[in-house]
Amino acid sequence: MMLRWSYAVLLFAVPSLAASPPFVGYSARASAQQAEWERKFQEGVSPEEIRATLRHLSARPHHVGSPYDKENAEWILGKFKAWGFDAKIETFDVLFPTPKERVLEMLAPTVFHATLEEPTVAQDPTSGQKSEQLPTYNAYSADGDVTAPLVYVNTGSREDYELLDRLGVSVKGAIVIARYGESWRGTVPKVAAERGAVGSIIYSDPEQDGFRKGDSFPKGGWRPAGGVQRGSVMDTDYPGDPLTPGVGATPGAKRLKLSEAKTITKIPVLPISYSDALPLLSALAGPVAPAQWRGGLPITYHVGPGPARVHLKMASNWDIKTIYDVIATLKGATAPDEWVIRGNHHDAWVNGADDPLAGQVALLEEARNLGALHAAGWNPARTIIYCAWDGEEPGLLGSVEWVETHSSELKQHTVAYINSDTNERGFLSAGGTQDLQRVVSDVAHGVQDPETPMSVWKRAHLAAIAAAKDPDERADLRKRNDLVLDALGDGSDYTSFQDFAGISSVDLSFGGEDDGDQYHSIYDDFYWYSHFVDTDFVYGRALAQTAGSAVMRLADADIVPFDYAPQAAAIAKYEDELEKLVKDKQEESAERATELEEGVYTAVNDPRRPLPPPPAEAMPPYLNFAPLKNALDALQASADHYSHALEQFEARGSPSLPLASRALVNADLIRVSRLFLNPKGLPERPWFKNQIYAPGAYTGYGAKPIAAVREYLDENRWQEADAQVPQVAQVVLNAAAGIEQAARDFEAAQDALH
Ligand SMILES: [Zn+2]
Repeated sequence: MMLRWSYAVLLFAVPSLAASPPFVGYSARASAQQAEWERKFQEGVSPEEIRATLRHLSARPHHVGSPYDKENAEWILGKFKAWGFDAKIETFDVLFPTPKERVLEMLAPTVFHATLEEPTVAQDPTSGQKSEQLPTYNAYSADGDVTAPLVYVNTGSREDYELLDRLGVSVKGAIVIARYGESWRGTVPKVAAERGAVGSIIYSDPEQDGFRKGDSFPKGGWRPAGGVQRGSVMDTDYPGDPLTPGVGATPGAKRLKLSEAKTITKIPVLPISYSDALPLLSALAGPVAPAQWRGGLPITYHVGPGPARVHLKMASNWDIKTIYDVIATLKGATAPDEWVIRGNHHDAWVNGADDPLAGQVALLEEARNLGALHAAGWNPARTIIYCAWDGEEPGLLGSVEWVETHSSELKQHTVAYINSDTNERGFLSAGGTQDLQRVVSDVAHGVQDPETPMSVWKRAHLAAIAAAKDPDERADLRKRNDLVLDALGDGSDYTSFQDFAGISSVDLSFGGEDDGDQYHSIYDDFYWYSHFVDTDFVYGRALAQTAGSAVMRLADADIVPFDYAPQAAAIAKYEDELEKLVKDKQEESAERATELEEGVYTAVNDPRRPLPPPPAEAMPPYLNFAPLKNALDALQASADHYSHALEQFEARGSPSLPLASRALVNADLIRVSRLFLNPKGLPERPWFKNQIYAPGAYTGYGAKPIAAVREYLDENRWQEADAQVPQVAQVVLNAAAGIEQAARDFEAAQDALH
């Protein structure tokens, strides 16, 4: 039913692209042709093709090192070749541990042996492929064999331990049990080890993705009692192969010894289901867990320590495995040395229908249609490179090693990188560098939402208004015609492009209306996906239409369609957040001192269950943000200058510029995002070169813009934060100068026509 209705909507509601004003960066003539090619492209994208490809690629488990991982890479290679791409496989040899021995048992007060296994579900045909499934584990866990009392630490974040301190509970010498939650899984063993714990366990609580959300699998789509979230716990110093930081894991590369690899955890860690966690949590005594720490299980959550005493053993095979990146090129006709790169990983933890194949099959459907357009006479101006990455799940291995290997040519040639990964039903979500905000938004205006009579832009825009926190934010959103791109950290394969090579990047997906979640489980497979997620594959079509049109738009524009005004505004906002953070901490510190003095904590404390007050904190000093604010003024001025040059181009009727002057302006534009790099990297994570866009050391996937300053602020290291401000200001000034150059060359190119 839904399918027929959505097709009907498509027939009458797709806006006529040809009648619109020229696309940004396009001459009027090129724009009209482009609209026609993009319309043909979008019409060709087929949900049936997407379904068939997803079924094929998810038919067997395909993690790094498995036979089907290699078979999939070769199958994808064959498809790219058949569609007219110049395609090859690039291999890298990387450290990829797999479990040799896993034991988790409770020795007291009762004896219990954890199953450490996800049960087969009769209706789900691939859930029984036991011999090919990776066991449940966290990759890059240290080996260890420990017996200790158990402590419940909520999600295991640093804030959780501050509350444990006040409860008088120490994890020194203990094994901690945390629930998966907002904080990233690698934070659990990292902070636990910093606090002196000897082992760690992470379980999936039904409140997060189980029966508290909806019916559990197979009746519904939510994680069942035996479902386990695998995942990497590689530390945050650098992504990619732990043995070859900063360089490609090629045959001749210099490799660290295993003992020298900084990104392997310090203590063992195992992920478990809530059916394995329930007996352990039920056996804890000690303080009742604070209200916000309680999950969805039918028990009173206690913190411990003990009396539950647990034996945890984890040992891995520390093998080097070969990974297979498929790289497919469609050479540009007029600007072959300018590259537009599109990627999605193909490896999974198990069958991986949603993660990553929902994104991978959209990517392949784009490539199939671009190949067909190419055969019908469409020749992209720039070179288009499609990448199917291997080894993303363990630590972005395929994309990081490839970018490290080719970093100098990538920095020289790459216009932008477009990433996707998982894909579900619902709203378009786009994150990235905001120089791409305008072009991505323009593309989203021209893609039809599959289930409502509006564009994917309109739907995401209205959803953002509905979710806005206050009237000011709503008013601001209502004035916008674009989609705000939030900064990216390191959650997927854009990381090395953006954070290491300074390449403008965007990450696209649909989601938010899911009837389930089986993240990194054996149940993330074709049966589950086609019953509970994008059941008619129309959001796969929407992703292919959005990402593929963005590739085409970037590949064919006369002038690379960057606009820096949204980026200057975003970076100014990140600077505001730094100042606000200091101000909030000053106010908090003053308020806490007052409350300690007037006895607030004593008054609200239950004398029978006393919770000691938090410690007094030293008052943060004022910091000098002036150098950064001055640099941001310069960035704003040059961004305005470039926007003005674009407006002037449009006001002149978007004339065709000679190839040579286009090449000059485009070279300026391609260079700008590289200017945000500092070759020395972040002060304590030198792999991360980008001074604006980076993840946090403790936040995992999430972004921490201006991390060089922000990380020190979060740790109350004021002098070090202050010392970083001038060097961030310098990269902003460099970028401002680069944009100014582009604006001048663009204006001169236009003036030369008259
Ligand atoms: Zn993924």
